[in-house]
Amino acid sequence: MGVLKIAIQKSGRLSENSKKLLEECGIKFSNGTGVLKTTAKNFPVELLFLRDDDIPQYVEQQVADIGILGENVVFEKNKDINIIEQLGFAGCRLSMAIPREELYTGPQYFQNKKIATSYPRILGEFLKEHNISAEIEEISGSVEIAPGIGLADAVCDIVSSGSTLLTNGLHEVETILKSQAVIVGNKNLDTEKQAILEKLLFRIRSVKSANENKYILLNAPVSAIDDICKILPGMKSPTIVPLVEKGWCSLHSVVKEDEFWVRIDQLREAGAQGILVIPIEKMIL
Ligand code: ATP
Ligand code: ZN
Repeated sequence: MGVLKIAIQKSGRLSENSKKLLEECGIKFSNGTGVLKTTAKNFPVELLFLRDDDIPQYVEQQVADIGILGENVVFEKNKDINIIEQLGFAGCRLSMAIPREELYTGPQYFQNKKIATSYPRILGEFLKEHNISAEIEEISGSVEIAPGIGLADAVCDIVSSGSTLLTNGLHEVETILKSQAVIVGNKNLDTEKQAILEKLLFRIRSVKSANENKYILLNAPVSAIDDICKILPGMKSPTIVPLVEKGWCSLHSVVKEDEFWVRIDQLREAGAQGILVIPIEKMIL
């Protein structure tokens, strides 16, 4: 029986969420410090703990079959691999930033400037697209300090809240790329590995749907049911159970996490009472 080799980041911003996702998929593995490789106890996968930058190359060469990493690194490394699934965590963007006191006039601002980045390929494409000639200073970390120490005029760096830029006296002027964690895969997986991957993806999608939805229970007068059903489309249609009190019923459905508060307000206006909202552990579609 084959195993699917999964590369995840050894330590960094992706590690915890990558491990959590696999655990929520019911995959049990031990994770001692300093371990580079571990085999899951109850699912045919092996985990490899690597630097995120190395994952695209390893997946291309099939040292690993699939990997979890940020799209920013996938695009920068530009290897011959597939993006299989977006995972919805580690959201960030790759942006251009310049010293706060500088006035930004558009991409032409970067003409003949020196720009520090860990993303020379993506930055190069951006400059080419805008017909700008600029010097790219490639550095591997702490890019945001480059202007402050006189190494560069501007930076092209990963931003999530923007607070790191602010504390370094920079302001964000262009977003080049939006990114989140994805699963990438080798293009030539054999049928056995492909079958394990399909099983894993089924579990991942169930976990993702569960995280994106809530179970909702409420009481309402029978006369309000039509209006309430329009607010709550649910998975198929809501479940409606009569209450002992005449003219009233209880309604059960599913609501999307990101529309949650809007829906609650609408439901209350429509006459719903005693609303209960419960997290969903797994959602099988
Ligand atoms: P490694 O040692 O594995 O090379 P790293 O220092 O390159 O780690 P991290 O800082 O751990 O990488 O970030 C990993 C990924 O997390 C990034 O490539 C990006 O996709 C995502 N990310 C999300 N938010 C941020 C952020 N605020 N700063 C940096 N990366 C972020
Ligand atoms: Zn890295």
